[in-house]
Amino acid sequence: MSSHLAKNCTSYPYLLSSTRRYSSNGFWTKPLNFIAGERVRPTNDNRSQDFSVVEPATGKILCESPSSGKADVDRAVKAAQEAFQIWSQVPAIERARIMQKTARKLADNLEDFARLEVTNNGKPIWEARCDIQSAIDAIDFYAGLAPSMTGQHIPCPGGSFAYTRREPLGVCVGIGAWNYPIQMAGWKSAPALACGNTMVFKPSQFTPATALLLAEVYADCGLPKGAFNVVQGEGETGHFLTSHPGVKKVSFTGSVATGKLIMKSCADDIKSLTLELGGKSPLLIFSDADLDNAAKGAVMANFLTQGEVCSNATRIFVERSIKDEFVKRFIERTKKMKIGDPHLEDTTFGALISKAHQDKVMGYIEGAKKEGATILYGGERVTPDDPALADGFYILPTIMDNVTDDMVISREEVFGPVATIMTFDTEEEAVTRANNTQLGLACGLFTKDVQRAHRVAAQLEAGNCWINNYNNLPPGVPFGGYKQSGLGRENGTATIDHYTQLKTVYVEAGDVDCPV
Ligand code: NAD
Repeated sequence: MSSHLAKNCTSYPYLLSSTRRYSSNGFWTKPLNFIAGERVRPTNDNRSQDFSVVEPATGKILCESPSSGKADVDRAVKAAQEAFQIWSQVPAIERARIMQKTARKLADNLEDFARLEVTNNGKPIWEARCDIQSAIDAIDFYAGLAPSMTGQHIPCPGGSFAYTRREPLGVCVGIGAWNYPIQMAGWKSAPALACGNTMVFKPSQFTPATALLLAEVYADCGLPKGAFNVVQGEGETGHFLTSHPGVKKVSFTGSVATGKLIMKSCADDIKSLTLELGGKSPLLIFSDADLDNAAKGAVMANFLTQGEVCSNATRIFVERSIKDEFVKRFIERTKKMKIGDPHLEDTTFGALISKAHQDKVMGYIEGAKKEGATILYGGERVTPDDPALADGFYILPTIMDNVTDDMVISREEVFGPVATIMTFDTEEEAVTRANNTQLGLACGLFTKDVQRAHRVAAQLEAGNCWINNYNNLPPGVPFGGYKQSGLGRENGTATIDHYTQLKTVYVEAGDVDCPV
Protein backbone atom coordinates (compact mmCIF):
# COMPACT_ATOMS: atom_id res chain seq x y z
CA MET A 1 0.00 0.00 0.00
CA SER A 2 1.29 3.41 -0.72
CA SER A 3 0.63 6.41 1.44
CA HIS A 4 -0.75 9.43 -0.36
CA LEU A 5 2.74 10.41 -1.51
CA ALA A 6 3.95 10.49 -5.04
CA LYS A 7 7.17 8.82 -6.15
CA ASN A 8 9.48 11.72 -5.44
CA CYS A 9 8.02 12.35 -1.97
CA THR A 10 9.14 15.97 -2.02
CA SER A 11 6.01 17.70 -0.83
CA TYR A 12 7.21 17.69 2.78
CA PRO A 13 9.88 20.24 3.57
CA TYR A 14 11.36 18.28 6.49
CA LEU A 15 11.32 14.98 4.66
CA LEU A 16 14.92 14.79 3.57
CA SER A 17 16.53 17.01 6.18
CA SER A 18 20.04 16.02 7.05
CA THR A 19 20.31 15.49 10.83
CA ARG A 20 21.09 11.79 11.02
CA ARG A 21 21.74 9.96 14.24
CA TYR A 22 20.32 6.51 13.72
CA SER A 23 22.94 5.15 11.39
CA SER A 24 22.35 1.56 10.42
CA ASN A 25 26.11 0.84 10.61
CA GLY A 26 26.67 -2.21 12.77
CA PHE A 27 22.93 -2.62 13.13
CA TRP A 28 22.91 -6.37 12.51
CA THR A 29 25.63 -7.21 15.02
CA LYS A 30 23.74 -5.85 18.02
CA PRO A 31 20.89 -7.63 19.86
CA LEU A 32 17.52 -7.27 18.15
CA ASN A 33 15.09 -7.20 21.10
CA PHE A 34 14.22 -3.89 22.73
CA ILE A 35 12.78 -4.26 26.23
CA ALA A 36 12.39 -1.64 28.95
CA GLY A 37 14.37 0.93 27.01
CA GLU A 38 17.36 -1.07 25.85
CA ARG A 39 18.50 -3.50 23.19
CA VAL A 40 18.79 -6.96 24.73
CA ARG A 41 19.66 -10.35 23.36
CA PRO A 42 16.83 -12.91 23.45
CA THR A 43 17.52 -15.56 26.08
CA ASN A 44 15.95 -18.18 23.82
CA ASP A 45 15.08 -20.21 26.89
CA ASN A 46 13.22 -22.98 25.12
CA ARG A 47 14.48 -22.72 21.57
CA SER A 48 17.57 -24.22 20.07
CA GLN A 49 17.41 -22.72 16.61
CA ASP A 50 18.26 -19.26 15.36
CA PHE A 51 16.36 -17.70 12.49
CA SER A 52 18.21 -16.16 9.57
CA VAL A 53 17.54 -12.69 8.24
CA VAL A 54 18.32 -12.49 4.53
CA GLU A 55 18.76 -9.55 2.17
CA PRO A 56 16.25 -10.28 -0.62
CA ALA A 57 18.10 -8.27 -3.26
CA THR A 58 21.29 -10.32 -2.94
CA GLY A 59 20.32 -13.50 -1.06
CA LYS A 60 23.04 -12.64 1.49
CA ILE A 61 22.48 -13.52 5.17
CA LEU A 62 22.31 -10.31 7.22
CA CYS A 63 22.27 -11.96 10.63
CA GLU A 64 21.22 -14.97 12.66
CA SER A 65 19.03 -14.14 15.62
CA PRO A 66 17.73 -16.31 18.41
CA SER A 67 13.95 -16.45 18.65
CA SER A 68 12.52 -14.94 21.80
CA GLY A 69 11.28 -17.55 24.21
CA LYS A 70 8.68 -17.47 26.96
CA ALA A 71 11.01 -15.73 29.43
CA ASP A 72 11.68 -12.92 26.92
CA VAL A 73 7.98 -12.47 26.29
CA ASP A 74 7.25 -12.45 30.04
CA ARG A 75 9.94 -9.83 30.51
CA ALA A 76 8.59 -7.62 27.73
CA VAL A 77 4.98 -7.90 28.95
CA LYS A 78 6.09 -7.10 32.51
CA ALA A 79 7.98 -4.03 31.27
CA ALA A 80 4.88 -2.93 29.36
CA GLN A 81 2.65 -3.50 32.41
CA GLU A 82 4.91 -1.34 34.56
CA ALA A 83 5.10 1.35 31.89
CA PHE A 84 1.30 1.31 31.60
CA GLN A 85 1.04 2.57 35.20
CA ILE A 86 3.01 5.65 34.12
CA TRP A 87 1.98 6.20 30.50
CA SER A 88 -1.77 5.87 31.07
CA GLN A 89 -1.51 8.71 33.61
CA VAL A 90 0.51 11.05 31.38
CA PRO A 91 -1.78 13.91 30.25
CA ALA A 92 -2.92 13.41 26.67
CA ILE A 93 -1.34 16.67 25.52
CA GLU A 94 2.02 15.46 26.79
CA ARG A 95 1.57 12.06 25.14
CA ALA A 96 0.91 13.98 21.94
CA ARG A 97 4.11 16.03 22.35
CA ILE A 98 6.26 12.93 22.77
CA MET A 99 4.68 11.35 19.72
CA GLN A 100 5.09 14.50 17.64
CA LYS A 101 8.74 14.68 18.65
CA THR A 102 9.10 11.05 17.55
CA ALA A 103 7.54 11.85 14.20
CA ARG A 104 10.00 14.73 13.66
CA LYS A 105 12.99 12.57 14.57
CA LEU A 106 11.84 9.82 12.25
CA ALA A 107 11.57 12.41 9.49
CA ASP A 108 15.08 13.64 10.26
CA ASN A 109 16.37 10.10 9.83
CA LEU A 110 14.07 9.08 7.03
CA GLU A 111 16.79 8.29 4.52
CA ASP A 112 18.74 5.97 6.84
CA PHE A 113 15.56 4.19 7.89
CA ALA A 114 14.49 3.78 4.28
CA ARG A 115 17.88 2.29 3.36
CA LEU A 116 17.61 -0.24 6.17
CA GLU A 117 14.07 -1.16 5.10
CA VAL A 118 15.22 -1.72 1.51
CA THR A 119 18.10 -3.93 2.64
CA ASN A 120 15.79 -5.98 4.83
CA ASN A 121 12.70 -6.14 2.59
CA GLY A 122 13.86 -5.77 -1.05
CA LYS A 123 11.34 -3.07 -2.03
CA PRO A 124 12.56 -0.08 -4.09
CA ILE A 125 13.92 2.91 -2.19
CA TRP A 126 11.19 5.29 -3.36
CA GLU A 127 8.56 3.01 -1.82
CA ALA A 128 10.50 2.56 1.40
CA ARG A 129 10.64 6.34 1.80
CA CYS A 130 6.87 6.50 1.39
CA ASP A 131 6.42 3.71 3.97
CA ILE A 132 8.47 5.57 6.58
CA GLN A 133 6.47 8.69 5.79
CA SER A 134 3.29 6.66 6.24
CA ALA A 135 4.44 5.62 9.74
CA ILE A 136 5.29 9.27 10.49
CA ASP A 137 1.86 10.35 9.27
CA ALA A 138 0.13 7.81 11.51
CA ILE A 139 2.11 8.96 14.57
CA ASP A 140 1.34 12.61 13.79
CA PHE A 141 -2.32 11.83 13.13
CA TYR A 142 -2.94 10.02 16.43
CA ALA A 143 -0.83 12.51 18.36
CA GLY A 144 -3.21 15.15 17.02
CA LEU A 145 -6.23 13.19 18.18
CA ALA A 146 -4.96 12.28 21.65
CA PRO A 147 -5.98 15.48 23.51
CA SER A 148 -9.47 15.51 22.03
CA MET A 149 -10.46 11.96 22.89
CA THR A 150 -13.36 12.46 25.25
CA GLY A 151 -16.49 10.69 26.41
CA GLN A 152 -20.15 11.64 26.10
CA HIS A 153 -22.66 13.26 28.42
CA ILE A 154 -26.06 11.53 28.23
CA PRO A 155 -29.07 13.21 29.92
CA CYS A 156 -31.40 10.77 31.71
CA PRO A 157 -34.93 11.24 33.23
CA GLY A 158 -35.33 13.37 36.38
CA GLY A 159 -32.10 15.28 35.99
CA SER A 160 -29.97 12.16 36.31
CA PHE A 161 -27.29 11.70 33.73
CA ALA A 162 -24.62 9.34 32.53
CA TYR A 163 -21.24 10.00 31.10
CA THR A 164 -18.76 7.81 29.32
CA ARG A 165 -15.06 7.58 29.87
CA ARG A 166 -12.79 6.35 27.12
CA GLU A 167 -10.16 4.30 28.95
CA PRO A 168 -7.05 2.54 27.65
CA LEU A 169 -6.98 -1.26 27.60
CA GLY A 170 -3.52 -1.93 29.04
CA VAL A 171 -0.75 -3.91 27.36
CA CYS A 172 -1.40 -4.37 23.65
CA VAL A 173 0.47 -6.76 21.39
CA GLY A 174 1.22 -5.87 17.78
CA ILE A 175 2.30 -8.60 15.37
CA GLY A 176 3.40 -7.67 11.87
CA ALA A 177 3.87 -9.24 8.45
CA TRP A 178 7.02 -8.67 6.39
CA ASN A 179 5.73 -6.58 3.49
CA TYR A 180 5.35 -3.19 5.25
CA PRO A 181 7.53 -3.51 8.38
CA ILE A 182 7.89 0.11 9.55
CA GLN A 183 4.44 1.10 8.36
CA MET A 184 2.84 -1.67 10.43
CA ALA A 185 4.87 -0.79 13.51
CA GLY A 186 3.74 2.83 13.10
CA TRP A 187 0.10 2.06 12.32
CA LYS A 188 -0.20 -0.17 15.40
CA SER A 189 1.91 1.71 17.93
CA ALA A 190 0.52 5.18 17.14
CA PRO A 191 -3.15 4.61 18.08
CA ALA A 192 -2.17 2.29 20.93
CA LEU A 193 0.12 4.85 22.55
CA ALA A 194 -2.10 7.85 21.81
CA CYS A 195 -4.92 6.12 23.71
CA GLY A 196 -2.66 5.54 26.75
CA ASN A 197 -1.82 1.87 26.19
CA THR A 198 1.60 0.29 26.07
CA MET A 199 2.76 -2.21 23.47
CA VAL A 200 4.91 -5.23 22.82
CA PHE A 201 5.52 -5.50 19.08
CA LYS A 202 6.76 -8.55 17.21
CA PRO A 203 7.83 -7.87 13.65
CA SER A 204 7.97 -10.68 11.13
CA GLN A 205 11.08 -12.81 11.52
CA PHE A 206 11.93 -11.85 7.93
CA THR A 207 12.00 -8.11 8.67
CA PRO A 208 13.08 -7.42 12.24
CA ALA A 209 14.93 -4.16 11.59
CA THR A 210 12.91 -0.97 11.41
CA ALA A 211 10.48 -1.65 14.28
CA LEU A 212 13.57 -1.76 16.47
CA LEU A 213 14.74 1.63 15.23
CA LEU A 214 11.26 2.99 15.86
CA ALA A 215 11.49 1.75 19.47
CA GLU A 216 14.81 3.56 19.90
CA VAL A 217 13.39 6.79 18.53
CA TYR A 218 10.30 6.60 20.77
CA ALA A 219 12.58 6.06 23.78
CA ASP A 220 14.89 8.94 22.81
CA CYS A 221 11.89 11.24 22.45
CA GLY A 222 10.66 10.67 25.98
CA LEU A 223 8.41 7.62 25.86
CA PRO A 224 8.72 5.91 29.26
CA LYS A 225 10.88 2.79 29.37
CA GLY A 226 8.80 -0.27 28.54
CA ALA A 227 5.98 1.60 26.83
CA PHE A 228 7.02 0.26 23.41
CA ASN A 229 9.00 -2.99 23.35
CA VAL A 230 10.11 -5.17 20.48
CA VAL A 231 10.59 -8.93 20.67
CA GLN A 232 11.88 -10.92 17.73
CA GLY A 233 10.93 -14.42 16.77
CA GLU A 234 8.82 -16.72 14.68
CA GLY A 235 5.29 -18.07 15.14
CA GLU A 236 6.01 -19.64 18.51
CA THR A 237 7.10 -16.29 19.95
CA GLY A 238 3.91 -14.79 18.52
CA HIS A 239 1.89 -17.48 20.27
CA PHE A 240 3.58 -16.76 23.61
CA LEU A 241 2.48 -13.15 23.17
CA THR A 242 -1.12 -13.73 22.06
CA SER A 243 -1.74 -16.30 24.83
CA HIS A 244 -0.10 -14.22 27.58
CA PRO A 245 -2.61 -13.47 30.37
CA GLY A 246 -1.08 -10.02 30.94
CA VAL A 247 -1.99 -8.90 27.42
CA LYS A 248 -5.34 -7.14 26.92
CA LYS A 249 -5.39 -6.68 23.15
CA VAL A 250 -3.80 -8.14 20.05
CA SER A 251 -3.52 -6.35 16.72
CA PHE A 252 -2.34 -8.80 14.08
CA THR A 253 -1.41 -8.37 10.43
CA GLY A 254 -0.73 -11.51 8.45
CA SER A 255 -2.33 -14.48 6.75
CA VAL A 256 -5.87 -15.73 7.26
CA ALA A 257 -4.57 -19.08 8.55
CA THR A 258 -2.47 -17.43 11.28
CA GLY A 259 -5.32 -15.01 12.04
CA LYS A 260 -7.60 -17.96 12.83
CA LEU A 261 -5.01 -19.46 15.18
CA ILE A 262 -4.61 -16.11 16.94
CA MET A 263 -8.36 -15.70 17.31
CA LYS A 264 -8.48 -19.07 19.07
CA SER A 265 -5.52 -18.16 21.23
CA CYS A 266 -7.21 -14.90 22.31
CA ALA A 267 -10.47 -16.67 23.15
CA ASP A 268 -9.29 -17.97 26.52
CA ASP A 269 -9.00 -14.46 27.98
CA ILE A 270 -11.56 -12.81 25.62
CA LYS A 271 -8.81 -10.45 24.47
CA SER A 272 -9.76 -7.57 22.23
CA LEU A 273 -8.62 -8.36 18.69
CA THR A 274 -7.87 -6.55 15.45
CA LEU A 275 -7.13 -8.78 12.46
CA GLU A 276 -5.71 -7.42 9.20
CA LEU A 277 -5.58 -10.48 6.97
CA GLY A 278 -5.20 -11.53 3.36
CA GLY A 279 -7.14 -10.47 0.29
CA LYS A 280 -8.14 -11.50 -3.23
CA SER A 281 -9.43 -8.17 -4.36
CA PRO A 282 -11.17 -7.32 -7.64
CA LEU A 283 -10.65 -4.31 -9.92
CA LEU A 284 -13.54 -3.49 -12.28
CA ILE A 285 -12.76 -1.52 -15.45
CA PHE A 286 -15.90 -0.25 -17.20
CA SER A 287 -15.98 0.71 -20.88
CA ASP A 288 -16.33 4.44 -20.12
CA ALA A 289 -13.20 4.51 -17.93
CA ASP A 290 -10.24 6.78 -18.62
CA LEU A 291 -8.04 3.97 -19.91
CA ASP A 292 -4.71 5.59 -19.14
CA ASN A 293 -5.73 6.06 -15.53
CA ALA A 294 -7.17 2.54 -15.47
CA ALA A 295 -3.86 1.13 -16.71
CA LYS A 296 -1.95 3.15 -14.11
CA GLY A 297 -4.44 1.99 -11.46
CA ALA A 298 -3.88 -1.63 -12.48
CA VAL A 299 -0.11 -1.16 -12.04
CA MET A 300 -0.66 0.41 -8.59
CA ALA A 301 -3.06 -2.42 -7.74
CA ASN A 302 -0.60 -5.17 -8.63
CA PHE A 303 3.05 -4.26 -8.69
CA LEU A 304 3.89 -2.10 -5.65
CA THR A 305 6.32 -3.93 -3.34
CA GLN A 306 6.70 -6.65 -5.99
CA GLY A 307 3.03 -7.49 -5.69
CA GLU A 308 3.36 -8.45 -2.02
CA VAL A 309 0.46 -6.26 -0.91
CA CYS A 310 -2.60 -7.52 0.95
CA SER A 311 -5.04 -5.15 -0.74
CA ASN A 312 -3.80 -5.82 -4.29
CA ALA A 313 -6.51 -6.21 -6.92
CA THR A 314 -5.13 -9.21 -8.75
CA ARG A 315 -8.47 -10.13 -10.32
CA ILE A 316 -8.95 -7.50 -13.03
CA PHE A 317 -12.42 -7.64 -14.60
CA VAL A 318 -12.53 -5.61 -17.85
CA GLU A 319 -15.65 -4.86 -19.87
CA ARG A 320 -15.32 -6.92 -23.04
CA SER A 321 -15.49 -4.02 -25.54
CA ILE A 322 -12.36 -2.33 -24.16
CA LYS A 323 -10.35 -5.36 -23.13
CA ASP A 324 -7.79 -5.22 -25.96
CA GLU A 325 -7.11 -1.52 -25.60
CA PHE A 326 -6.89 -1.70 -21.79
CA VAL A 327 -4.56 -4.71 -21.91
CA LYS A 328 -2.33 -2.96 -24.46
CA ARG A 329 -1.93 0.08 -22.21
CA PHE A 330 -1.49 -2.03 -19.05
CA ILE A 331 1.31 -4.04 -20.68
CA GLU A 332 2.97 -0.88 -22.04
CA ARG A 333 3.15 0.56 -18.52
CA THR A 334 4.23 -2.68 -16.91
CA LYS A 335 7.09 -3.01 -19.42
CA LYS A 336 8.40 0.33 -18.19
CA MET A 337 8.98 -1.04 -14.69
CA LYS A 338 12.68 -1.23 -14.01
CA ILE A 339 13.69 -4.35 -12.07
CA GLY A 340 16.97 -4.39 -10.25
CA ASP A 341 18.91 -3.08 -7.27
CA PRO A 342 16.20 -1.69 -4.98
CA HIS A 343 18.65 0.91 -3.64
CA LEU A 344 18.88 2.64 -7.03
CA GLU A 345 16.70 5.69 -7.60
CA ASP A 346 15.35 4.53 -10.95
CA THR A 347 14.43 1.01 -9.81
CA THR A 348 10.67 0.62 -9.62
CA PHE A 349 10.47 -3.11 -8.89
CA GLY A 350 12.69 -4.92 -6.39
CA ALA A 351 13.17 -8.43 -5.03
CA LEU A 352 10.64 -10.77 -3.44
CA ILE A 353 11.09 -11.47 0.24
CA SER A 354 12.64 -14.96 0.07
CA LYS A 355 13.57 -17.89 -2.13
CA ALA A 356 10.68 -19.91 -0.68
CA HIS A 357 8.23 -17.14 -1.56
CA GLN A 358 9.71 -16.77 -5.05
CA ASP A 359 9.19 -20.53 -5.55
CA LYS A 360 5.63 -20.29 -4.25
CA VAL A 361 4.70 -17.48 -6.63
CA MET A 362 6.30 -19.31 -9.58
CA GLY A 363 4.31 -22.39 -8.54
CA TYR A 364 1.07 -20.38 -8.87
CA ILE A 365 2.12 -19.14 -12.32
CA GLU A 366 3.01 -22.64 -13.54
CA GLY A 367 -0.19 -24.06 -12.04
CA ALA A 368 -2.30 -21.43 -13.83
CA LYS A 369 -0.60 -22.24 -17.13
CA LYS A 370 -1.44 -25.92 -16.65
CA GLU A 371 -5.08 -24.93 -16.06
CA GLY A 372 -5.14 -23.05 -19.40
CA ALA A 373 -4.12 -19.49 -18.52
CA THR A 374 -1.67 -17.75 -20.84
CA ILE A 375 1.10 -15.25 -20.17
CA LEU A 376 0.69 -11.79 -21.70
CA TYR A 377 3.80 -10.43 -20.03
CA GLY A 378 6.42 -11.72 -17.55
CA GLY A 379 5.80 -15.07 -15.91
CA GLU A 380 9.41 -15.92 -15.21
CA ARG A 381 12.28 -15.49 -12.80
CA VAL A 382 14.79 -12.89 -13.81
CA THR A 383 18.36 -12.08 -12.82
CA PRO A 384 19.34 -8.40 -12.98
CA ASP A 385 22.59 -7.59 -14.83
CA ASP A 386 24.51 -6.66 -11.66
CA PRO A 387 26.43 -9.81 -10.57
CA ALA A 388 25.94 -8.78 -6.91
CA LEU A 389 22.22 -9.48 -7.38
CA ALA A 390 22.65 -12.93 -8.92
CA ASP A 391 21.31 -14.73 -5.85
CA GLY A 392 18.40 -12.31 -5.23
CA PHE A 393 14.75 -13.30 -5.54
CA TYR A 394 13.39 -11.61 -8.66
CA ILE A 395 10.31 -12.36 -10.77
CA LEU A 396 9.10 -10.25 -13.68
CA PRO A 397 5.80 -8.46 -13.11
CA THR A 398 3.32 -10.85 -14.70
CA ILE A 399 0.02 -10.39 -16.54
CA MET A 400 -2.07 -13.48 -17.33
CA ASP A 401 -4.98 -13.90 -19.73
CA ASN A 402 -7.52 -16.66 -20.39
CA VAL A 403 -8.13 -16.94 -16.68
CA THR A 404 -11.42 -18.24 -15.31
CA ASP A 405 -13.06 -17.68 -11.93
CA ASP A 406 -12.58 -21.29 -10.84
CA MET A 407 -8.81 -21.50 -11.41
CA VAL A 408 -6.58 -21.68 -8.34
CA ILE A 409 -4.91 -18.41 -9.40
CA SER A 410 -8.32 -16.67 -9.19
CA ARG A 411 -9.23 -18.13 -5.80
CA GLU A 412 -6.08 -18.14 -3.67
CA GLU A 413 -3.96 -15.21 -2.52
CA VAL A 414 -0.68 -15.34 -4.48
CA PHE A 415 0.90 -12.38 -2.69
CA GLY A 416 3.22 -11.78 -5.61
CA PRO A 417 3.38 -9.80 -8.89
CA VAL A 418 0.69 -11.68 -10.82
CA ALA A 419 -2.29 -9.85 -12.33
CA THR A 420 -5.03 -11.83 -14.05
CA ILE A 421 -7.38 -10.48 -16.72
CA MET A 422 -11.01 -11.54 -17.06
CA THR A 423 -13.81 -10.01 -19.13
CA PHE A 424 -17.44 -9.20 -18.28
CA ASP A 425 -20.50 -8.05 -20.21
CA THR A 426 -22.79 -6.48 -17.61
CA GLU A 427 -22.39 -4.53 -14.38
CA GLU A 428 -24.42 -7.12 -12.49
CA GLU A 429 -22.20 -9.94 -13.72
CA ALA A 430 -19.05 -8.03 -12.77
CA VAL A 431 -20.30 -7.38 -9.23
CA THR A 432 -21.43 -10.98 -8.69
CA ARG A 433 -18.12 -12.41 -9.87
CA ALA A 434 -16.09 -9.83 -7.92
CA ASN A 435 -17.92 -10.82 -4.72
CA ASN A 436 -17.43 -14.54 -5.30
CA THR A 437 -14.70 -14.97 -2.67
CA GLN A 438 -14.44 -15.59 1.06
CA LEU A 439 -12.10 -12.61 1.31
CA GLY A 440 -13.13 -8.96 1.33
CA LEU A 441 -10.20 -6.68 2.03
CA ALA A 442 -10.44 -4.23 -0.87
CA CYS A 443 -11.78 -3.54 -4.34
CA GLY A 444 -11.62 -0.86 -6.99
CA LEU A 445 -13.44 0.40 -10.05
CA PHE A 446 -12.74 2.72 -12.93
CA THR A 447 -15.65 4.54 -14.57
CA LYS A 448 -16.63 8.11 -15.42
CA ASP A 449 -20.29 7.41 -14.59
CA VAL A 450 -20.71 8.90 -11.13
CA GLN A 451 -23.97 7.08 -10.41
CA ARG A 452 -22.57 3.72 -11.38
CA ALA A 453 -19.42 4.38 -9.36
CA HIS A 454 -21.33 4.76 -6.10
CA ARG A 455 -23.89 2.06 -6.93
CA VAL A 456 -21.14 -0.50 -7.56
CA ALA A 457 -19.04 0.66 -4.57
CA ALA A 458 -22.06 0.02 -2.35
CA GLN A 459 -22.53 -3.51 -3.70
CA LEU A 460 -18.93 -4.71 -3.53
CA GLU A 461 -18.25 -6.77 -0.39
CA ALA A 462 -14.99 -5.29 0.85
CA GLY A 463 -13.75 -2.99 3.59
CA ASN A 464 -12.06 -0.58 1.17
CA CYS A 465 -13.13 0.57 -2.27
CA TRP A 466 -11.16 2.90 -4.52
CA ILE A 467 -13.00 4.74 -7.27
CA ASN A 468 -10.69 5.76 -10.14
CA ASN A 469 -7.48 5.01 -8.23
CA TYR A 470 -6.01 2.17 -6.17
CA ASN A 471 -4.00 1.52 -2.99
CA ASN A 472 -3.95 5.10 -1.62
CA LEU A 473 -4.06 5.12 2.17
CA PRO A 474 -3.70 8.46 3.92
CA PRO A 475 -3.64 8.09 7.73
CA GLY A 476 -7.10 9.53 8.34
CA VAL A 477 -8.77 6.87 6.22
CA PRO A 478 -9.84 3.67 8.00
CA PHE A 479 -8.51 0.43 6.55
CA GLY A 480 -9.64 -3.14 7.19
CA GLY A 481 -11.44 -6.15 5.84
CA TYR A 482 -14.87 -7.70 5.35
CA LYS A 483 -15.48 -11.46 5.50
CA GLN A 484 -12.33 -13.49 6.28
CA SER A 485 -10.05 -10.53 5.56
CA GLY A 486 -10.30 -9.33 9.11
CA LEU A 487 -11.85 -7.63 12.08
CA GLY A 488 -11.59 -4.04 13.24
CA ARG A 489 -9.87 -1.16 11.48
CA GLU A 490 -6.50 0.54 11.34
CA ASN A 491 -6.06 4.27 10.69
CA GLY A 492 -8.71 6.96 10.94
CA THR A 493 -10.72 7.85 14.02
CA ALA A 494 -12.47 4.44 13.86
CA THR A 495 -9.33 2.85 15.31
CA ILE A 496 -9.76 4.70 18.61
CA ASP A 497 -12.66 2.33 19.36
CA HIS A 498 -10.30 -0.62 18.98
CA TYR A 499 -7.67 0.69 21.42
CA THR A 500 -9.96 1.93 24.18
CA GLN A 501 -12.82 0.59 26.27
CA LEU A 502 -15.85 2.64 27.16
CA LYS A 503 -16.90 3.00 30.77
CA THR A 504 -20.39 4.32 31.45
CA VAL A 505 -20.90 6.17 34.73
CA TYR A 506 -24.53 6.72 35.75
CA VAL A 507 -25.22 9.57 38.21
CA GLU A 508 -28.53 9.62 40.12
CA ALA A 509 -30.02 13.06 40.71
CA GLY A 510 -32.94 11.93 42.91
CA ASP A 511 -33.87 9.14 45.30
CA VAL A 512 -33.58 5.48 44.53
CA ASP A 513 -36.85 4.19 43.01
CA CYS A 514 -37.19 0.78 44.67
CA PRO A 515 -40.32 -1.47 44.88
CA VAL A 516 -39.74 -2.41 48.52
P1 NAD B 1 2.04 -14.92 8.50
O1 NAD B 1 0.64 -15.14 8.96
O2 NAD B 1 2.83 -16.11 8.11
O3 NAD B 1 2.90 -14.20 9.63
C1 NAD B 1 2.54 -12.94 10.13
C2 NAD B 1 3.13 -12.76 11.52
O4 NAD B 1 2.53 -13.69 12.41
C3 NAD B 1 4.63 -13.00 11.60
O5 NAD B 1 5.19 -12.03 12.48
C4 NAD B 1 4.73 -14.39 12.20
O6 NAD B 1 5.92 -14.65 12.89
C5 NAD B 1 3.53 -14.39 13.13
N1 NAD B 1 2.98 -15.69 13.49
C6 NAD B 1 3.01 -16.84 12.77
N2 NAD B 1 2.35 -17.82 13.43
C7 NAD B 1 1.87 -17.27 14.58
C8 NAD B 1 1.10 -17.75 15.67
N3 NAD B 1 0.66 -19.03 15.73
N4 NAD B 1 0.77 -16.90 16.68
C9 NAD B 1 1.18 -15.61 16.63
N5 NAD B 1 1.92 -15.09 15.64
C10 NAD B 1 2.27 -15.92 14.62
O7 NAD B 1 1.96 -13.87 7.31
P2 NAD B 1 3.14 -13.28 6.42
O8 NAD B 1 3.60 -14.32 5.45
O9 NAD B 1 4.15 -12.64 7.31
O10 NAD B 1 2.39 -12.10 5.65
C11 NAD B 1 1.66 -12.30 4.49
C12 NAD B 1 0.17 -12.25 4.79
O11 NAD B 1 -0.15 -11.05 5.49
C13 NAD B 1 -0.67 -12.21 3.52
O12 NAD B 1 -1.76 -13.07 3.65
C14 NAD B 1 -1.13 -10.75 3.45
O13 NAD B 1 -2.31 -10.55 2.74
C15 NAD B 1 -1.28 -10.43 4.90
N6 NAD B 1 -1.25 -8.98 5.10
C16 NAD B 1 -2.41 -8.34 5.45
C17 NAD B 1 -2.42 -6.95 5.60
C18 NAD B 1 -3.67 -6.19 5.98
O14 NAD B 1 -3.56 -5.03 6.38
N7 NAD B 1 -4.85 -6.77 5.86
C19 NAD B 1 -1.24 -6.22 5.41
C20 NAD B 1 -0.09 -6.92 5.06
C21 NAD B 1 -0.09 -8.30 4.92
